[in-house]
Amino acid sequence: MDAPYAKLDQLEPAVARVLAHNPSAFTYFGTQSYLIGEREVAVIDPGPDLPEHLDALERAIGGRRVAAIMCTHTHRDHSPAARPLADCTGAPIVGCAPLALETVGPRADASFDGDYRPDRELSDGESIAIDGKPVTAVATPGHTSNHLCFAYGDALFTGDHVMGWSTTVVVPPDGDMAAYMASLDKLRKRDDRIYYPAHGPAVTNPQQYVRHLLGHRMQREKQILRLVGERPREISDIVAAAYPGLDPRLVPAAGGSVCAHLLDLERRGLVEREGDEQAPVGSFPRSSDRWTAA
Ligand SMILES: [Zn+2]
Repeated sequence: MDAPYAKLDQLEPAVARVLAHNPSAFTYFGTQSYLIGEREVAVIDPGPDLPEHLDALERAIGGRRVAAIMCTHTHRDHSPAARPLADCTGAPIVGCAPLALETVGPRADASFDGDYRPDRELSDGESIAIDGKPVTAVATPGHTSNHLCFAYGDALFTGDHVMGWSTTVVVPPDGDMAAYMASLDKLRKRDDRIYYPAHGPAVTNPQQYVRHLLGHRMQREKQILRLVGERPREISDIVAAAYPGLDPRLVPAAGGSVCAHLLDLERRGLVEREGDEQAPVGSFPRSSDRWTAA
């Protein structure tokens, strides 16, 4: 595919994009880093630590002052370039909280950047100024527990919370479906003009798009309830029935998403585990657990 890697894409007077060369089944063509501001800039989601991407970001910055390097969350395709970019620009790393995951056991997850160390964490509603104009954190947990979107004027930088090409992966233990749905609902109540996601094209009909995403998840939930209502099922069985013809590379992510729905439904008292009566509600499931309607 002829994607515009390492090229500056000026989208608006104060919004530009640089695509990193890390295409995959999860990142689409790659991670999109954004530069906002004109005389001074902030870099949102600096991306993976790839020399050609860092060079492209430096060229895009073009000697302007970098007021902040901002990360929406700490998946490895988003935050690892923050430190080298901070070292060469002197800019502070500002944004989401670091996430402490375990190195072994069910809470271990190699997709997180354990080296991320922000100079300043932003909580919901906190702002910094770029060119005198605020960039405000909008807490949107769900895809990860530390996920932030950033509002700048009437544009919202949505990271992986809302993507322009595919539905977002919500995988326990850190991913949480109830939090994700609440964070979608939070965006539904805003009146942003446009979303700039880290993966995929800009979303120019945000309200309609978010309503569609909420509807899609509610359909999936209904489908899972129907499947476990027919007979007790393991997660793999639900995935096979709910995602016919799925790209085999995406089967583990679909399993994670089904798991996220089941944990949410379990907390709401709508499903239970047949194989593991001792398991506390909300505890990380085993793949051999059989789920049934409560
Ligand atoms: Zn992510």
